[in-house]
Amino acid sequence: MRLGIIGCGNMGGGMASQLGKNGFEVTCFDPIPEISSRMATLGATTAASAGALAKACDVIILSLPKAAVVEAVMAEILPDIQAGTVILDASTSEPATSQAMCAKGAEHGFAFVDGPVSGGPEAANAGTMTMLLGGDADAIETMRPALDIITSKTVKVGDSGAGHAAKIANNMLCAANLVLVGEAIRLGQAAGVSPADLLEGINAGSGRSGVSEVNFPKWVLNDAFDSGFTMGLMRKDVGLALDLAKNSGVDLCGFEQIANIWLNASTDISDSDDFNAIVKHNPKGV
Ligand code: NAD
Repeated sequence: MRLGIIGCGNMGGGMASQLGKNGFEVTCFDPIPEISSRMATLGATTAASAGALAKACDVIILSLPKAAVVEAVMAEILPDIQAGTVILDASTSEPATSQAMCAKGAEHGFAFVDGPVSGGPEAANAGTMTMLLGGDADAIETMRPALDIITSKTVKVGDSGAGHAAKIANNMLCAANLVLVGEAIRLGQAAGVSPADLLEGINAGSGRSGVSEVNFPKWVLNDAFDSGFTMGLMRKDVGLALDLAKNSGVDLCGFEQIANIWLNASTDISDSDDFNAIVKHNPKGV
């Protein structure tokens, strides 16, 4: 397997590191020179361009900010993609983009699989991400040795685009839970229950979630706010949920109120802040 990663930020860089530690030879491309140098320090080969990487690799992982960048990179590398190549889009992108890239692949002789991930940079570095896969089963099995190194669980949720749809639904719940657990903690405090005691109770009860079990102890209660996932990326995902609902004719009347907090009400929290900072959004101060 000649493996390449395009986009070596928090997530792509972690995947490159984890693959390198486990004996894979990885070629990396990222336009930011400091990131490219960091990949070289980790032992990866660095390509001069995304096209040069595509020429040299037969499995290519994309870990890019958003669908528009995935489309731009795919347009750039199209002439250089080798026949039989499998491309895995681990970005949080859009179902329609994956379906369009998959159709292009059928025309040009490559496979395009969507495999967005959960777990954050720590999980990317440790190979413990969860990946939601959409696309051709044979193409997925071609990448299996690499998937086994970067994930602790993969779930094939359907055909092309299904992985991104499932990831958008997952992040919609994460975004909603962050706002709601923050409100539950304020409610508990007003009634004299400390946040730590309240969380212990919730996590032993039916109100628990990934947010109450992981985010609050790890990044909120200790004031660390250093998860490696930004407000800007979560705001993108909240917008993707609204877009997907609109395009599918689904009414998300509950989530729309929470989406309004992420997109319009919390402008005091900048896009570069940690996404957990949404719990500090409390304009009335009560
Ligand atoms: P990041 O900003 O740290 O990394 C993105 C990288 O893409 C950057 O290094 C950037 O230089 C590179 N890039 C941008 N344009 C490019 C181009 N035209 N060609 C090549 N490279 C380009 O972001 P991240 O946190 O690593 O997230 C990457 C993707 O994974 C996003 O879609 C995000 O939503 C998703 N994601 C992130 C997390 C997390 O916790 N950080 C968790 C799950 C999913």
